[in-house]
Amino acid sequence: MSKSRISIDNPDNEVLWLKCNWCHSKTEHKVLSSVVTEASEDYVDDGGTYEDALWWRASHRIIQCNTCQQISYRRESIDSESDGDEELGIPDQYDVAVYPGDMAHRIFGQYKSQVDKLLFRRCADVIEKVPAIYKRLGEGDKEAISQALTSCRRIISSFAHAIYPPPGKEEEVIVEGKSLKLSAQNYLNLIDAYVRTHTSSISVRDRIRLTLRPLNERVCAGVHDDVTAEEAQALFLQTYLLLGEILNL
Ligand SMILES: [Zn+2]
Repeated sequence: MSKSRISIDNPDNEVLWLKCNWCHSKTEHKVLSSVVTEASEDYVDDGGTYEDALWWRASHRIIQCNTCQQISYRRESIDSESDGDEELGIPDQYDVAVYPGDMAHRIFGQYKSQVDKLLFRRCADVIEKVPAIYKRLGEGDKEAISQALTSCRRIISSFAHAIYPPPGKEEEVIVEGKSLKLSAQNYLNLIDAYVRTHTSSISVRDRIRLTLRPLNERVCAGVHDDVTAEEAQALFLQTYLLLGEILNL
């Protein structure tokens, strides 16, 4: 038989001692509101019926950091399988999720969605595969490495074509005293030309140019070369961060 229960309470002075995702200090968090959901089920086998042997429980809390005052949502859940055993020294394994996540993830997420939106009509097939590839990279999947690098290269070239459509036939422009050939194949030059028309800061232009080229080189070489899953993951993140920064110029 299965049973479930929901309890809601607005605790007066409940305080949790946690590391804040925003200010990164380990500090007191005031619990503003709390909901606990619980359910259980009997387990039946040849030995008989074990009442409420299968159970799961989650607490949902709105908390506020006492240092930076950021308000967040925190979910903590556990079930009978991840419940520890004190006698055997096995700790409880709580699954914890906090929203909003940390700043770095938020910035990356914002950049990623801007870049994806721009590219969706041009290379939806690549964009749709990104989450799955990224997840597999996290698991160290070898095939995912080569797919990830191929996708990165397509993302960079489609991005270039989207922000600075190549001229019908090859053109040359002078950027920072250097002649740049603009064509569909020279996609890095298209990005340079775009950056030049969107920022007057020489140091920003230089930094973007000097980041983009080695990144693209590694992505292209890496398809045939030895690249670890960690490096592929880093190249992916760098691609999105850089393209996101360019869109924000
Ligand atoms: Zn904080």
